[in-house]
Amino acid sequence: MLGGVRRRPPRDALRPRHRLPGDRRGGGDRLRPHGDAERRPGVRAGARRRRARAPRRGAVSRRVVVVGGGVTGLATAYRLVSAGMDAVVLEAEREPGGKVRSAEVGGLRLEAGPDSLLGRKPWGVELCRELGLGEELEPPAPVPTHVYTARGLLRFPSGPFGISTDVGELLRWPGMSLAGKLRAAADLALPRRRDEGDESLGSLLRRRIGDEAAEALVAPLLGGLFAGDVDRLSVQATFPELAAWEREHGSLLLGAKAQMRAAAANRRPGEDPPPMFLRLRGGLVRLVGALAAAIGPGRLRLGTAVTAIEPAGLGYRVVADGEALEADAVVLATPAFVAAELLAPLAPAVVPLLAAIPYVSTAVVLLVYPEGTGSALPRSSGFVAPRGALAITAATFVSRKWPEEAFGDRAVVRCFVGASGTEDLVDQPDEDIVEGVGRQLAAIVGLPERPEAARVIRWPHAMPQYEVGHLDRVAEIERGLPPGLFVVGQAYRGAGIPDCVRQANELAARITGASTSRA
Ligand SMILES: Cc1cc2nc3c(=O)[nH]c(=O)nc-3n(C[C@H](O)[C@H](O)[C@H](O)COP(=O)(O)OP(=O)(O)OC[C@H]3O[C@@H](n4cnc5c(N)ncnc54)[C@H](O)[C@@H]3O)c2cc1C
Repeated sequence: MLGGVRRRPPRDALRPRHRLPGDRRGGGDRLRPHGDAERRPGVRAGARRRRARAPRRGAVSRRVVVVGGGVTGLATAYRLVSAGMDAVVLEAEREPGGKVRSAEVGGLRLEAGPDSLLGRKPWGVELCRELGLGEELEPPAPVPTHVYTARGLLRFPSGPFGISTDVGELLRWPGMSLAGKLRAAADLALPRRRDEGDESLGSLLRRRIGDEAAEALVAPLLGGLFAGDVDRLSVQATFPELAAWEREHGSLLLGAKAQMRAAAANRRPGEDPPPMFLRLRGGLVRLVGALAAAIGPGRLRLGTAVTAIEPAGLGYRVVADGEALEADAVVLATPAFVAAELLAPLAPAVVPLLAAIPYVSTAVVLLVYPEGTGSALPRSSGFVAPRGALAITAATFVSRKWPEEAFGDRAVVRCFVGASGTEDLVDQPDEDIVEGVGRQLAAIVGLPERPEAARVIRWPHAMPQYEVGHLDRVAEIERGLPPGLFVVGQAYRGAGIPDCVRQANELAARITGASTSRA
């Protein structure tokens, strides 16, 4: 037992548990064949003309089929349609949005997947503004973030990613041993790494600030974003700025300080730092809805699982439910393991590379407590926990971070359980997860042991792991794809929504052949 949540021996994290692409997850709408489809003899000449002018790499494509209607697929189609191209999105589920989902708990609608957009990566926020949702973007309440330690919840020392910019403050921080703090401060004197190659986040952090600070302070934040293991995650693919700080300043502490100074110098006197995160009032589903509306209903086909992609002339035939859609280009905006299956006949060399991108399962636990509990929650946006310390890897005090009138004085908390190495927790029954999480929250912040309402949302194989060498692997995948076939999204060049939008912008610009300042 770990805090009431029973543990089982860990499963193989790579064992695929997703449905095969042929499975009918949503059922429903039949795929309407494209007007130029081969099976319609009356338009064969048009189809031949289209194929004759089918694109080579880098040239303009016309009919693009996007497989997957998550944020990446929708944003790609939106850019293509905006550029005057004919794009159709095929989405297996009956709702668009992929991992963007909300759930009702205790009469409240709460985020079940992503809940906010990183402010320093502008592409997600820019897209919201472009779609008329700018007024709905909201910064969090100005409350600090905490980290769970043997002494309970402690505020992070000041500085980005939990890396202190003030040695005095670091030495006074009560969450680590004196030896651990002195070792962290040794970062200021240690020689810089000479090798320019990729390494794991854990390796860089342990070299610079020592094991204790790496595990207690920085890993919970950085590893937590991927539900990953810092000793496997690639610095270059996740937080390349850390390597740059060491390279340019010879120290993480000095690099962090230089970054904060540079950010302050870019602000007008008296101006507050920009918010780290922004949420969308009413939920990120509004971004999905706005994208779907902008693409147009006829271009988004739901309940349409793609089962095969075949060569057809100089283009492709995308098969879903036994019907076919012809395309000059196909964009696979699905998880990498789905892309691996669909690409097997067309690009066998990239299949092992796609299949080798590991995925981790996690679960979100949404808890709503009775009236009178809201004001009892600490004034904090929530906390992260070091690996193995708790069943909870991270908790957001939603009613503190994003207060809403509808909450009344109820504490609303969102927790993550299950990450690399503890994925077995995700398989526990709902009651055990809620009981275990409730008990841990009760012990840490004094909430009642039982919430008034709770819901567990499982995310099987939802978090791609950017392991050391990830960017080389992605480059090799991209080089190995035949002309007119593309992969894009969370698995490749940035795992959060802003990076997915950036990838969509860049790919659409490449397909249309247009240059874009957004990319
Ligand atoms: C619990 C959780 C919390 C997160 N929190 C944040 C956060 O706060 N901020 C943030 O920026 N990011 C967050 N993320 C990451 C964010 O959710 C992803 O970056 C983003 O949603 C990925 O979008 P995508 O379109 O690339 O992939 P997905 O959302 O996975 O979309 C892929 C789509 O492909 C469809 N599909 C699969 N197979 C087929 C097929 N054969 N035919 C047709 N369609 C198919 C799927 O149904 C799905 O809709 C979080 C992720 C999770 C799981």
